[in-house]
Amino acid sequence: MLFDAFSQVSRASGLAANIDKSNIYIGGVIATEREAIVASVHISKGQFPFQIFGSTSDYQETWHTDPSKKSLVTWHSLCLPRSASGWNLKEMSLWNKADVSNLLWALTHKKDKLWCRWVHAYYIKGRSLSTQWPSTISCSLRKILSSYQLIHDVGGWENVCRKSKFSIKLMYQALLGNHEKVTWRRILCNNSATPKSFFITWLTLWNRLPTKDRLLTWKVVTDDQCPLCSKCSESVSHLFFECDYATSIWQKVLHSL
Ligand SMILES: [Zn+2]
Repeated sequence: MLFDAFSQVSRASGLAANIDKSNIYIGGVIATEREAIVASVHISKGQFPFQIFGSTSDYQETWHTDPSKKSLVTWHSLCLPRSASGWNLKEMSLWNKADVSNLLWALTHKKDKLWCRWVHAYYIKGRSLSTQWPSTISCSLRKILSSYQLIHDVGGWENVCRKSKFSIKLMYQALLGNHEKVTWRRILCNNSATPKSFFITWLTLWNRLPTKDRLLTWKVVTDDQCPLCSKCSESVSHLFFECDYATSIWQKVLHSL
């Protein structure tokens, strides 16, 4: 079902995954079911790049599943706002911190709630939130109480509240920080190009296209000659602006304007 949905998105957007370079990761199912899934999607089975669950950051750092491949753009860059050249995706580790801060807000502002009264009576006991909490305190409660430092770092509750209520969204934005707007954001904002063209443009602006000059440094290819003119090294600037082939296309475009 998931693969069908994935294929549907692929057909609609024009973006297709390279099945030969992809791996599928399966957990929590018996071996026969695992083999059946692998056989039905025709993608080879991969090994998790970590042994202890709980941290997927290594996995998120790269879009490629093969560790020998270079990452195109870091996950953090994708989580930046559009004006800062990101895709506005959620950075879940920060969202989780913002969500936990919401519980601290409840502890400090909703003292009439039964669970808040219980925590105050048995653990906090009138002490300041900046207290060094004893090791007997549970791990989850320690996480909630340690959010106090995060609130301090973002400048206090008033910076993450809207209409006197805690806003997880404001807290998340505060944790993500301010990011400088990129000068080329207008090329991408309100761009009605097809998703495939848009994506290539975005990678070009990041200078992350797998052009042959980059592939050569990764030792993926043995030469970096431009296949269109066979004169120069294939770089982003050459491919889009300096190559004879690109120049002829630009001239035709300019004449038609
Ligand atoms: Zn060329």
